[in-house]
Amino acid sequence: MFWLKACPRCGGDLHDEQDFYGKYVACIQCGVVLSEEQEHALRTWGILEREPVSAMLKAA
Ligand SMILES: [Zn+2]
Repeated sequence: MFWLKACPRCGGDLHDEQDFYGKYVACIQCGVVLSEEQEHALRTWGILEREPVSAMLKAA
């Protein structure tokens, strides 16, 4: 799974990775690894991505 331009540090693209220790989300460009909280928020937001965006557009 990918989250384009979602990196909190450089605005790059985040993606799922998996290694010996388990799954995590990291940035392709700068290599930053998200904290558990950030990853949870991203996954929650990612699944609901289209809902908040359309809601924000309506509110604007
Ligand atoms: Zn980055």
